[in-house]
Amino acid sequence: MKRRPFIAGNWKMHLTLAESVRLAQAVAESCAACPDRDVMIAPAFTSLASVCTAVKGSPLLIGAQNIAWEKEGAYTGEISPVMLKDLGVNLAIIGHSERRQIFGEDDAMINRRMHGALNGGIQPILCIGETLADREAGNTFSVLEKQLRHGLNKVSNEQMAQVVLAYEPVWAIGTGKTASKEQAQEVHAFLRQLLANLYEKNIADATRILYGGSVKFDNIDNLMAQPDIDGALVGGAALKAESFDRIVRFR
Ligand code: PEP
Repeated sequence: MKRRPFIAGNWKMHLTLAESVRLAQAVAESCAACPDRDVMIAPAFTSLASVCTAVKGSPLLIGAQNIAWEKEGAYTGEISPVMLKDLGVNLAIIGHSERRQIFGEDDAMINRRMHGALNGGIQPILCIGETLADREAGNTFSVLEKQLRHGLNKVSNEQMAQVVLAYEPVWAIGTGKTASKEQAQEVHAFLRQLLANLYEKNIADATRILYGGSVKFDNIDNLMAQPDIDGALVGGAALKAESFDRIVRFR
């Protein structure tokens, strides 16, 4: 099954408003040059509104770096699906390892965020990944299975059409260590099989699974050549127009 490639940039806690708008405009040009793939950027919350305005009319997709599960209320520091939708945001990154590890988000909270996004018309990108200790202990697959099952708890067959998965081995994020294309493909194939067990084969075949972890201009082509790798979630290399442009234009 042919899945539409998806290249996503996670800007994390970087860039001022003016820098964000400039970079977004440059990425919109890269995106327009590659109509056969989806391209997304996830700026900091403070830049989202201006970035949405700056690239309006472009096919570039805009993501939030997290999302609340309630529409409104006493949730200091959170941003709701209604607020994101109002800006024109299309997707939200959920369960990023930095949220899990630094801010203590657990699988139950991540699942609530998934339902918040899906009910609010925002496409979730569910991130899962093992730590180095998990991998060295031989627990990679059991950890990923647990995160996937919990993250997708009560997500229906129909809702799965909206879901994007991102496999991000924690040991490869921001470290310069990329999973080899064989390691990444092995996990992606495992996740797709798991989706086929949890849902149906056609859903597993249609779901896009992104790889994330030190993706750069010089490893993107090899990663994208793997049959179960449908795209990339890029951190550091998404912060420079030239390097992200080369990633968007993977061959
Ligand atoms: C990320 O933040 O999701 C990520 C993969 O970062 P980096 O590309 O910098 O490893």
